Amino acid sequence: MAVSRVPLIAGNWKMNLDHLQAVAFVQKLHWTLKEAKHEDGSVEVAVFPPFTDIRTVQTLLDADMIPFALGGQDLSTKDSGAYTGEVSGAFLKKLDCTYVIIGHSERREYHNETDEVVAAKVQAALKHGLVPVICVGETAADLEEFGASAVPVGQLEKALVGVPADADIVVAYEPVWAIGSGQAATPEQAQDVCAKLRQVIGAALGAEAAERTRVLYGGSVKSGNIASFMREPDVDGALVGGASLLADEFAAIIRFQK
Ligand code: PGA
Repeated sequence: MAVSRVPLIAGNWKMNLDHLQAVAFVQKLHWTLKEAKHEDGSVEVAVFPPFTDIRTVQTLLDADMIPFALGGQDLSTKDSGAYTGEVSGAFLKKLDCTYVIIGHSERREYHNETDEVVAAKVQAALKHGLVPVICVGETAADLEEFGASAVPVGQLEKALVGVPADADIVVAYEPVWAIGSGQAATPEQAQDVCAKLRQVIGAALGAEAAERTRVLYGGSVKSGNIASFMREPDVDGALVGGASLLADEFAAIIRFQK
């Protein structure tokens, strides 16, 4: 019997919203969804604030019983120690983070994160009981040279080395050229690559993991295009950047109708 995957709509705030702005934003998003009677569990909502906001957001979610999951945007490969500026997965777990984004293209580009670093961070996340949201995607140059799927497939194969079959992971297909550009992939392309990524999960972790694992699309997702992605059988949600900073717009994305 096919497993039904609960859609995940994840908001990656990147380096936006300080901890005071975070409180106002989360409250507004919560009330917008509540008024629309949309906090019914049919869609999982997750927010990924900057590290300096996480404690504040955790306290607010807890106090007001707001059903959003929380995640970090990155983590260290180390557990603790003399690593100035790093944040351990253990610390994120203590703040009730469920998820951590790993291998976002901005980390790969601006912080030289290689596939080996990404794989080490996936291991660190799993070690501390966090669900890694593993980001993969091709640049515009890759698209021209190799087509859409070759680079993300290779990135995911490397990220999954040593991951146990029963690990809880999320994969996000984010074409680099679509991020922040206003030019999203077509639903057909997203479906094609997400289906291939699911095959990679199957080959690495087995059929059950491939069936259960959520594969997201990310890159210029808006309220106007989310439904077209969610209609595709292998797209199980979205990783949203810019549009996740606007409460009304993000609420409209969460309330997508297929
Ligand atoms: P975008 O970013 O929605 O602003 O394109 C997506 C992301 O980087 O995760």
